[in-house]
Amino acid sequence: MLQGTPSLAFRDQGEFQISDFRFQLAPPWPPPIDAVRDALLAAYADGSWGKYHGPHCERLREMLAQMHGVPHAWLCSSGTIAVELALRALKVGPGDEVVLAGYDFPGNFRAIEAIGARPVLVDLVAGTWAIDAEQVAMAIGHETKAILASHLHGSLAEMPRLRAIADERGLAIVEDACQVPGAVIAGKPAGAWGDVGVLSFGGSKLLTAGRGGAIVTSRDDVLQRLRIFCERGNDAFPLSELQAAVLVPQLPMLADANERRLTAVRRLLAACSELPGLVPLKLPEEAGTKAAFYKLPWLLTGNQDDCDSPQFEQRRRRYIAAAQAEGLALDEGFRGFAKRTGNRCRVVGELARARGAGAGTVVLHHPVLLLGNEMIDRVIAALHKIAAHSA
Ligand SMILES: *Cc1c(COP(=O)(O)O)cnc(C)c1O
Repeated sequence: MLQGTPSLAFRDQGEFQISDFRFQLAPPWPPPIDAVRDALLAAYADGSWGKYHGPHCERLREMLAQMHGVPHAWLCSSGTIAVELALRALKVGPGDEVVLAGYDFPGNFRAIEAIGARPVLVDLVAGTWAIDAEQVAMAIGHETKAILASHLHGSLAEMPRLRAIADERGLAIVEDACQVPGAVIAGKPAGAWGDVGVLSFGGSKLLTAGRGGAIVTSRDDVLQRLRIFCERGNDAFPLSELQAAVLVPQLPMLADANERRLTAVRRLLAACSELPGLVPLKLPEEAGTKAAFYKLPWLLTGNQDDCDSPQFEQRRRRYIAAAQAEGLALDEGFRGFAKRTGNRCRVVGELARARGAGAGTVVLHHPVLLLGNEMIDRVIAALHKIAAHSA
């Protein structure tokens, strides 16, 4: 009987036609997943939809710990709060400094401020969206307590180098793997290099429950402090049984979906390596390394000096509008923090690349990457058309 039921993702989409070209290039997320529908019905049948803690949360924690090769996973209500909880559990607090890239998820800067610590900004590695480990090493001062390293837009941070720096200088690492669940760096899962790894299950993310987050760690003391902080009086940042129930069946599907996204990205990049005015991502291809894709980025170039100009901003806006008119889910990247004042953070160096990334990044949202070669070829054709008109 269930077989004939329309899939979840399509049920409420009254107006659109499945044959609509624009819809096809920017399909809704999450897609219909039979195993998730079954999990929802099972959660209804067994009453776990109305429960707080229970077997689904237990199971999800076990699966996340196993997936990352660590003993502990902790569930919480978002990736953003997971970063803050991670910093607290590492005993970072008022007067301490945390080094992060001048181009990062905005909530990461705020999480550092939220615990009373001071952000220290460093630049990206040239040609990537990844924090520059050598600049991190130079930025470390007496007050520096931790490094916050994010894997952004398919770039992977140099975790072996960052780990060596952190170990040598006695710092902790919070590794933000919100965009790259299932990615591998030098043979180790992304998220497992940090003292703490952070995941998001937000509505647009590769693994989703609409909202939610998790922390993975090998450190018993971190788990202990998380538990004490989160369970004071009430569990104030929980992931519910219902959320866990829909995440559990998504985990075994992740590796295959990541592989299909990676294949699509390879096809796209091979056909779009020379779009005028756009610098593509250099795929991380080192042995034992595998990227994952939440957003596929390009850097719109101009004269680096004038990337802060209104003309440049306008150019990016026009570019994105043209892409959206072709049906592509192309958008701006993060703004970055390069313009923040010295009152709020310590800035190391010029942050030229972070500034360029904040002004010039455009990102393609991931759902289209699962739709197969024919759709990818349509994306490629659209990108060539836009680039030719915008050059
Ligand atoms: C989405 C995201 C987060 C936060 O996740 P939420 O669950 O949306 O709070 C943190 N860092 C990065 C890099 C992200 O992409």
